[in-house]
Amino acid sequence: MSLKIPFDNTYARLPEGFYARQAPVPVADPALIAFNDALARELGIDGADDARLAAIFAGNDVPDGAEPLAQLYAGHQFGQFNPQLGDGRAILLGEVTDRTGARRDIQLKGSGRTPFSRMGDGRAWLGPVLREYVVSEAMHALGVPTTRALAAVRTGETVLREVPLPGAVLTRVAASHIRVGTFQIFSARQDTDALRALFDYTVARHYPQARDPSELLDVVIERQAKLVAQWMALGFIHGVMNTDNCTLSGETIDYGPCAFMDAYAPDTVFSSIDRFGRYGYAAQADIIVWNMAQLATALVPLMPDESEAIETFTRQIHAMPDLIRAEWLTRFAAKLGITAPRAEDAGLVADLLDLMHAGSSDFTNTFRGLADGTARDEIADRDGFDKWHARWRTRIEDEADPEAAMRAANPAFIPRNHRIEEMIAAAVAGDDAPFHRLNAVLADPFSDQPDAADLRRPPTHDEVVTATFCGT
Ligand code: AMP
Ligand code: MG
Repeated sequence: MSLKIPFDNTYARLPEGFYARQAPVPVADPALIAFNDALARELGIDGADDARLAAIFAGNDVPDGAEPLAQLYAGHQFGQFNPQLGDGRAILLGEVTDRTGARRDIQLKGSGRTPFSRMGDGRAWLGPVLREYVVSEAMHALGVPTTRALAAVRTGETVLREVPLPGAVLTRVAASHIRVGTFQIFSARQDTDALRALFDYTVARHYPQARDPSELLDVVIERQAKLVAQWMALGFIHGVMNTDNCTLSGETIDYGPCAFMDAYAPDTVFSSIDRFGRYGYAAQADIIVWNMAQLATALVPLMPDESEAIETFTRQIHAMPDLIRAEWLTRFAAKLGITAPRAEDAGLVADLLDLMHAGSSDFTNTFRGLADGTARDEIADRDGFDKWHARWRTRIEDEADPEAAMRAANPAFIPRNHRIEEMIAAAVAGDDAPFHRLNAVLADPFSDQPDAADLRRPPTHDEVVTATFCGT
């Protein structure tokens, strides 16, 4: 059966300097690991047999209508500006319009070298591919704006990292791949024509209501503030919030060393390359403001008057922390069953978090336990908890159905690091069953699913994952 992807490409119509046309580099022996049928239907993609799907999503067979290209961008990596990055191991095949009328990018990741590969091999190994597949799909099921995973394919080739590892390709679907770093590259080059073309393209594609750069900045600030508050409410740590990994669409992108916290500690860092904790759990709320300041800086050349632009943008950036605090409070109040948060609820949340921190309580299970009556078991300071509990029950007296609200805000299941590691080890040994099981359970994270109780358990001392590594 042949596969049809109804491509309708617009990025490829942008000026040549925005990308390099580049076909994916074929691999030795494509074998399909997973194809996301539900997402494919959303995108209007027909089915095909596994061999054909494997060939397409390994990059061996470029489907009709695709116009493969590698996108150009720059970015601040750990605070240092890198004037040219770009897709070094990814290829945008093209775009489709989904069932809701939204334009979506279809991108291969791990599809071979491009003109932007620098020293890299353009490839990905199986571990990061399956990790991104599981975590991005879980984030979607958890209600977080995110890129999605359409397919994962083994390449039949070996990738050399510290050791030889099995190669794989991920197919990622995104609202777009426009990054803060995409604006930065043209701004840094003082290519105002390109910058304006990118601005016009971004506005038309994502925010047609934005009439000028300041309005674009406002809406991106709002999306990113909401996004980071959602991450924090789930104990999610992105791990590498460089400006090239920060989207204009407000979707989570680039699942590298990301991780969910087990035991609550605000300074938690997993990424092995984040030595100073720049992108730690609580730091995310500050870093996103810094990233938005870089976007603002990149937009200045589009404004008629530079000093006026700087004044306006500075005001917008300075207003962002309050916006994040408000979003944070909304999300965490919902976790306590509070529908209309008041300012003083921040203290109620903070006091619970302090009790959790003091006893290294499991973040996910403590919040889920509030509705189930098991939260007390998670807290070391029982007296402290009882006092907090009395205050909290008084606060939610007038809520209509706080238990139901809490079950909808506090997942039973998150992709726990030790389960991801276990799943990757199994897949490397040729057993994909744990991968498929994780996907199936995490598709419905707010349901109890008693058969999967083992996946709710925090890691034992021996299972704790202390460091995660970049997707390379
Ligand atoms: P990341 O940290 O994954 O967002 O990647 C940062 C930059 O490094 C991007 O420009 C990537 O395209 C590039 N890159 C990462 N891994 C590889 C690789 N294996 N080969 C070529 N480029 C890579
Ligand atoms: Mg990246």
